[in-house]
Amino acid sequence: MLGAMQDWTMRITHVIDAAARESGAREIVTHWADGHETRTNWAEVRTDALKMAQALEALGVKKGDRVASLAMNHSRHLVSWYGVAGMGGVLHTVNPRLFEDQLEYIVNHAEDKVLLYDAAFQPIVDKMRDRWTTIEHYVCYDPADGFDGHAFESWIGAQDGEYTWAEGSERDPCMLCYTSGTTGNPKGVQYEHRSTVMHAMAGLQPSAFNFGPASVMLPVVPMFHAASWGLPYAGAMAGIKFVFSAVNDPAILHELMIREKVTDSAGVPTVWLAHFQYCDAQKIDLPPLKAATIGGSACPRFMIERLMKNGTRVQHAWGMTETSPIGTVGGPTSDWNELTFDEKVDKTAMQGRPIFGVELRTVDLDDNTVELPRDGETSGALQIRGPWIIRRYFKGEADACNNDGWFDTGDVGIIHPDGTLQLTDRTKDVIKSGGEWISSVELENAAVGCPGVAEAACVGMYHSKWDERPVLFVVKKEGEDVTADAVMDHLKPLIAKWWMPDAVEFVDDIPHTATGKISKKDLRARFSDYSLEGA
Ligand code: ADP
Repeated sequence: MLGAMQDWTMRITHVIDAAARESGAREIVTHWADGHETRTNWAEVRTDALKMAQALEALGVKKGDRVASLAMNHSRHLVSWYGVAGMGGVLHTVNPRLFEDQLEYIVNHAEDKVLLYDAAFQPIVDKMRDRWTTIEHYVCYDPADGFDGHAFESWIGAQDGEYTWAEGSERDPCMLCYTSGTTGNPKGVQYEHRSTVMHAMAGLQPSAFNFGPASVMLPVVPMFHAASWGLPYAGAMAGIKFVFSAVNDPAILHELMIREKVTDSAGVPTVWLAHFQYCDAQKIDLPPLKAATIGGSACPRFMIERLMKNGTRVQHAWGMTETSPIGTVGGPTSDWNELTFDEKVDKTAMQGRPIFGVELRTVDLDDNTVELPRDGETSGALQIRGPWIIRRYFKGEADACNNDGWFDTGDVGIIHPDGTLQLTDRTKDVIKSGGEWISSVELENAAVGCPGVAEAACVGMYHSKWDERPVLFVVKKEGEDVTADAVMDHLKPLIAKWWMPDAVEFVDDIPHTATGKISKKDLRARFSDYSLEGA
């Protein structure tokens, strides 16, 4: 026998309906690429989303069809998140930084019917148009005068908004996001209404984003990156004010943060690096944010220290496209006030604790059936399961999980007794030397603390005796000199003796993926002829 509570299908339309009803007047500010600014609110976003749903149907878009966006953060992109899902479509957020072959692959693989794009990406559209075989309609979000095509505002403006949201199952798809592919072709992750609503609700936990109706959030994480960490949904649920910038210029972000009294931000570490450099050059203080959620790659200690000294709570988060993406988030625990500043920084440098709804475990790297203790010491392959974790890739035949329903993240980590996750590497990058594991990430983190080192990447190179030995590739800071010996001397007190790299090689640049992470795949390809002397 069932219980006796009401039916309430977990669909995204509830989220925008609630935002319009409960927080309708809360502002959504956009700084556009051409410098002008607009202000709308949650009630208007809903009205525009209703019109957009009608406009898509008028173009012949059907339930389940994919509608792509190639766009930065702005209110019209936000409208699309609700307009596409509202008519039963699937919004495919495309990363404009992908390489041409990847752009061709994912749009054709997704069979996108419509492309919504920023004028700034017109050159990409012009170049790719003939290679994209399924797109029937192009809509420009912010066209210049004289544009000959569908301009977003007039396209939706032709509709009356008298529309009833499409109904369906809460398990219907609503969004599609491809992983940027550090290996092989990009793979599509298709989110459902239900998984998205649950993920957004989980994002509201005080141990996650920790924001509410008094918050003003400027998300720097792009809307095309891993569903923008669910912020456009969680933000609507909490009724926050959003401030968007379609350009990632630290001067503009800084000015907006001060003027709009921004309390919260979210982005990858490089965003903050650029912000630090800007503030240093201008000799001004960092913006007085209450909280900064930082993730996508490891947040370095010096960044945490500086933000904490500025009074900003650092919420170091871990996740991936396949996990919607939030898996863990860091924040104060009950022992927080007993910790010294350095201990707080140490703890924040780890990746935080799982938010309710996801489960984590580590298993032996060689034998994935052996679960490892949560002892703060043993590192292993990190696995995850929960209602917003991938089961199967888009159009994939087989499940992406093992028989027990655990998804292998490809990350290597340690779980501490209090649940804190400490990532140590990626399974593909961890170096096996004489049967023992060396963390390439820990080596890199230690190396970037060396004066004169701008960036470092460590890969395992073939060694006849030890199988693999670490080689450190280093980019020098502009105008600064540093020697291999100086790097080695710097590393010595920080890592085990047998972890010391067999060589330090200076390079002009280190390759990155479209999401800005070090691409070890490309680095290995670039040095495929590399041989360790004496190996
Ligand atoms: P990609 O397509 O590049 O894999 P994702 O955003 O899905 O893009 O990347 C997820 C991966 O990023 C994780 O598996 C992990 O390796 C890395 N990552 C994410 N957050 C963190 C973090 N806080 N610290 C260290 N690594 C992280």
